[in-house]
Amino acid sequence: MSLLEVRNLQKSFGGVRAVNNVSFSLAPGELLALIGPNGAGKSTTFNMVNGQLKADGGSIRFNGTELIGLKPREIWRLGVGRTFQIAETFSSLTVIENVQMTLLSQDKKMFSFWRAAADYKRDEALSLLAQVGMAEQAERPCRVLAYGDVKRVELAVAMANRPKLLLMDEPTAGMAPRERNELMALTKKLVVEHGTAVLFTEHSMDVVFAYADRMIVLARGQLIAEGKPMEVRGHPKVQEVYFGS
Ligand code: ADP
Ligand code: MG
Repeated sequence: MSLLEVRNLQKSFGGVRAVNNVSFSLAPGELLALIGPNGAGKSTTFNMVNGQLKADGGSIRFNGTELIGLKPREIWRLGVGRTFQIAETFSSLTVIENVQMTLLSQDKKMFSFWRAAADYKRDEALSLLAQVGMAEQAERPCRVLAYGDVKRVELAVAMANRPKLLLMDEPTAGMAPRERNELMALTKKLVVEHGTAVLFTEHSMDVVFAYADRMIVLARGQLIAEGKPMEVRGHPKVQEVYFGS
């Protein structure tokens, strides 16, 4: 049985058909890569699954529940996690909660309360940080961390909700090849241990070939190929959009 079942997904912006009749499915525990050149519709597809964008048509079923029309927070509660850039980690809070968090952390009278909250599920948090190799840096402020380490923390934050499906939009963007491989190897190890399925978008074919179980290729909003990385590589349409031959 599929964990995620996407059927005839549609989204237009003005006259641009960003996603045009796209269908695919994802099995529990599977690592599925969504690839394609710039503007292919990867992020648009992705943002319809996480609820940030509302589809114009089609359906997105997760564990049998229709996601279209649900709010991002509701989708998150069903077990669809996503990596956030660390600066956005509080984005699941409301506007006022964000301000309150800041006030609370500065209020001297509330400081003991804040310290108590700091012990909340500490062992569980440390265990997750150990799994991404960041336990020793647990007390450091995120802003002083190396870029690759921030990415590890983002992964731990995303896994803290124990998602059944983890969504990652270009997780290795801005990273050097070696860092990319480290992050993807770590992600794969972690999700395999937790039995978490992953849908990720990626620019680099190399990363996809090394880590995805299966891939789907989008070009100008349409799905042009799907299968195991080795099968898809030789596909004429993929050669055309990717390698211009
Ligand atoms: P990718 O992530 O594969 O690079 P996107 O999904 O971001 O592609 O974009 C697909 C198409 O939709 C592009 O033509 C892009 O310009 C257009 N598009 C994406 N988001 C918006 C938006 N918010 N408003 C208008 N056009 C958009
Ligand atoms: Mg994108």
